[in-house]
Amino acid sequence: MKIINKVEELRLEIKKLKSEKQGHIGLVPTMGALHNGHLSLIEKARKENEIVVVSVFVNPTQFGPNEDYDKYPRTLEADSKLCEKAGVDFVFAPAPSDIYDEYYFKHKETTLICPPYDVVNKLCGKSRPGHFDGVCTIVAKLFNITKCDRAYFGKKDAQQLFIIQKMVRDLNFDIEIIGCPIVREADNLALSSRNTYLDDDARKTALDISKALFKVKELCNNGIKDCAVLIDTALAIMQNLEVEYTEIVSVDTFEKINTVEGKALMLIAARVKSGDSRVRLIDNIEL
Ligand code: AMP
Repeated sequence: MKIINKVEELRLEIKKLKSEKQGHIGLVPTMGALHNGHLSLIEKARKENEIVVVSVFVNPTQFGPNEDYDKYPRTLEADSKLCEKAGVDFVFAPAPSDIYDEYYFKHKETTLICPPYDVVNKLCGKSRPGHFDGVCTIVAKLFNITKCDRAYFGKKDAQQLFIIQKMVRDLNFDIEIIGCPIVREADNLALSSRNTYLDDDARKTALDISKALFKVKELCNNGIKDCAVLIDTALAIMQNLEVEYTEIVSVDTFEKINTVEGKALMLIAARVKSGDSRVRLIDNIEL
């Protein structure tokens, strides 16, 4: 496994390996602090491709001014060991200055990919203006840098997955986007790099998010399809959390629905108090 920081070096190395292996390239974009959720994506990519690239990059353009960009966990050494064990070919771990040019650092602006307003300015995008523009831009850059055939994303970030699939269709990227199931702890807490911010009490409170989701799924399976009732049930379980949104959308359109008929998703974002910070967590479940 090679750990590479520079775009041109990665391009060269991929070209070299591709001429030897003649296969497909699978890309797993991450921000590092890798856990078993990331590893499930990496393992799937390893099974399905001859060459596997994992990018580890905390992307500044997807963080708002008051978000946790500076304190986001950075654990490249441990991440690299996990990747090596998982049989990854290349870890691409650039510095911001390897990805964005001087203009960006001077003016805080770069060329962006901006999906339609109504798609990005709801759910997570509502409280994180510009977030999905930053995500699409870095993902498109990684597609161009790696020339991957397939890219792997977790369903944990369901809106992100939906938006990237749309970007790929809208811009005709010749890349297959593969959505992977949410990996959870034994007690159902969805794995997240931000779980490292949680103290013991906060971790217990955070469990109410998955409790709410699984309760709603149970009710739905028992024939309760009215979204207002389902949302109220979830909110009642999450009284100790600062809920940012609880919504039920159609899987196909990501638009709000009133009644669960076809495939639907319940999505939650909530903040948990942990010491002095309010840790923002997201999770969702298919109904
Ligand atoms: P991140 O490092 O948080 O940007 O995540 C990188 C990728 O891993 C994204 O596609 C996430 O959706 C995915 N991911 C993060 N947590 C999980 C999880 N618990 N289960 C499955 N995929 C995940």
